[in-house]
Amino acid sequence: MTKLTDATRASLRSRSRLVHLGRNSEQSQGFINVPPFRGSTVLYPDVATLKSRAQRYTYGTHGTPTTDALCAAWTDIAGAAGTVLVPSGLAAIVVALMTALGAGDHLMITDSAYAPARNFANTILKRMGIETTYYDPHLGAGIGALMRPNTRAVLTESPGSQTFEVQDIPAIAEVAHAHGACVLMDNTWATPLFFAPHAHGVDMAIEAGTKYLSGHSDLLLGLVSANAAWFDRLHRTTDQMAIPPGPEDVFLALRGLRSMELRLREAERQGLALAQWLSTRPEVLRVLHPALPDHPGHGLWKRDFSGSSGLFSIVLKPVSETAVAAFLDGLELFGLGYSWAGYESLAVPFDCTSYRTATRWAPGGPAIRFSVGLEDIEDLKADLDRGFARLTATV
Ligand SMILES: *Cc1c(COP(=O)(O)O)cnc(C)c1O
Repeated sequence: MTKLTDATRASLRSRSRLVHLGRNSEQSQGFINVPPFRGSTVLYPDVATLKSRAQRYTYGTHGTPTTDALCAAWTDIAGAAGTVLVPSGLAAIVVALMTALGAGDHLMITDSAYAPARNFANTILKRMGIETTYYDPHLGAGIGALMRPNTRAVLTESPGSQTFEVQDIPAIAEVAHAHGACVLMDNTWATPLFFAPHAHGVDMAIEAGTKYLSGHSDLLLGLVSANAAWFDRLHRTTDQMAIPPGPEDVFLALRGLRSMELRLREAERQGLALAQWLSTRPEVLRVLHPALPDHPGHGLWKRDFSGSSGLFSIVLKPVSETAVAAFLDGLELFGLGYSWAGYESLAVPFDCTSYRTATRWAPGGPAIRFSVGLEDIEDLKADLDRGFARLTATV
């Protein structure tokens, strides 16, 4: 920490927190940033200390000053009791599920969840005797009807990061808790800056740090924050699985943390501007962005979220696959690829028809997801404008 008194620290707004949290100038010999501590072995001064188990750092898999710095900062901005780090966002989903579930348990997952999370549930969890039911993200408190006596966890994601359905998290949490189930949320889209997960009833909140925390498309990281009821168990489970992230990635994530709010605010501004522009285009059937007033989840978004990030989708009026490819292939500023929230813009086609089971994905045309970067918005519009010209010229 810098020289902050507890009273000042408690009064700080999020931008100041992001600048000052998780710094330890003593550990850094006066340098601003905590360096990437690398290591397996940690030495003990004597046998008594080794036997007392009182030393904070004991072995590389159990944490370092670098991981502690990021965990402390994230715990603070998430309003959590504690945070664990793992090497990817998907691994964060996995450790949260492994924390909440055991053989014979029943799991509920929103039909709008990140598809690899479904894959984990449908293969490995199934093999371990855990059954999964997928639910319509619009059900809200209605998920109660699908719960069983052995339902132990509900995995939510809001908004869905392809199709942007907003879920009533407080209502889901209330029903789940009444049934004794744990509430997990993939909060990657909003980050804790735009949605306070634990204040809305979430027990374990997942963040793919690969996205806005990194912001530069150059690292993989997962974070799970938990409330007081779940943190101990989450920490023990993660520690026993021994899957720490690489020290360089944690160091880069701490760097990203310092500018995360600025980048998010800009992503929000650019994303909204582009979404509004796209909704005026004759080629576009619908824009899926929860901060637009005509989005079906807008009311819930407005009630629970304090901002929107730069990821949203559009549905095109029906055109051929060749026309969609002509649109995407010729884009010069938007890259074609997975992941998102980097400084550079991306566009990727998607189709949920093959894997949704509780709802039907029939949007009325081909769908494209955009991650809006930090380029000038006019240049981005011009790139897409040329794309639409290619699209309409192709049959
Ligand atoms: C990218 C993503 C993940 C997975 O993160 P990785 O670090 O790529 O494994 C999980 N959830 C959501 C919503 C994501 O967008």
